[in-house]
Amino acid sequence: MKVPDYIAKLKAYVPGKPIEELEREYGISGSVKLASNENPIGPSPKAVEAIKEALKDLHRYPDGYNYLLRQRLGEKLQVSSSEIVFGNGSNEIIELLARTFLQEGDEVIMPSPSFLMYEIMVQAAGARPVKVSLKDLAVDLEKMAERVSGDTRMVFVNNPNNPTGTIVSRDAFEAFLDRISSDVIVVMDEAYIEFVRAEVCPRGLDYLHSEKAVVTLRTFSKAYGLAGLRIGYGVMKKDIADYINRVRQPFNTNMLAQVGALAALNDDAFFERTIRMVHEELDFLYEEVSKMGLRCFPTQANFFLIDLEQDANEVFERLLSRGVIVRAMTAYEYPKYIRVNVGLPEENQRFVEALKEVL
Ligand SMILES: *Cc1c(COP(=O)(O)O)cnc(C)c1O
Repeated sequence: MKVPDYIAKLKAYVPGKPIEELEREYGISGSVKLASNENPIGPSPKAVEAIKEALKDLHRYPDGYNYLLRQRLGEKLQVSSSEIVFGNGSNEIIELLARTFLQEGDEVIMPSPSFLMYEIMVQAAGARPVKVSLKDLAVDLEKMAERVSGDTRMVFVNNPNNPTGTIVSRDAFEAFLDRISSDVIVVMDEAYIEFVRAEVCPRGLDYLHSEKAVVTLRTFSKAYGLAGLRIGYGVMKKDIADYINRVRQPFNTNMLAQVGALAALNDDAFFERTIRMVHEELDFLYEEVSKMGLRCFPTQANFFLIDLEQDANEVFERLLSRGVIVRAMTAYEYPKYIRVNVGLPEENQRFVEALKEVL
């Protein structure tokens, strides 16, 4: 069997174990998961209702154009239908961008640590990831601009950045864009943009019609509570979308995801409840953990980092045995940090209690 060198060198992404499996291993039950930045409230009830209604049509193929969701989203974002590409999660848009625009020898600049998918998808397309370290836990746009070479085809900016929760400012982003050729695709991954409170935060959509090639990624997996359905999208200039649509499978978003996302998009009450709760609970967690004398890092997302000043894996295991699942940051170059996302009020209480016990 022959496999390209760049595939042989890939390391498979290690997902968190399912809750059921962890509970079996540790002999626990009723555990709380604060590890994957999901919406703790659950899915939008309107989405669930719409999905039930659509079940009777499962023998049909989905709408390959995703017409209804496309119309509604275009309206809401004030962009043209032809500027949107849907994906099986925004992860698929990352993959499609890589498969459509990259080949061997190309370079893609990305922050590090950041979302691991950038590196995997870029490498799987045969191109070279160029990782630029964060500065004070934030994406270092200046350094990234300096690393642009004649081989650079794409730059990823994760705003807010996962796993640090930091943002870049509008000024910094515009200064960065000024230095980037319009031939280089700048991908703004805004998976957590709905949670941002800082006013200086730029929005990729504001640069859609600038001369630069800015692609904005958004998802229904976080604030909209539909991670299990797998649907997200990219907003980009029509010519970029046209190329991706040649590579994309026609039915890459499934029927239930399409109707669920549309219903969730129209469920303002659910969305507002989510954002309000995340902000209130984030403030609660931040205060409680700070009171314990631990350093928490300011965040604009629905998760934040805590410096434990000791081996994070060990604390992770001890929390786990108390039924609290968080993410140790060992694979992200922070061996003493954990990342915790906001849960329901009672889940956050439980996390705080468990953390006090294990430290
Ligand atoms: C969660 C997340 C996504 C969303 O991925 P989906 O495939 O839409 O579920 C994208 N980017 C980052 C940085 C994330 O953390």
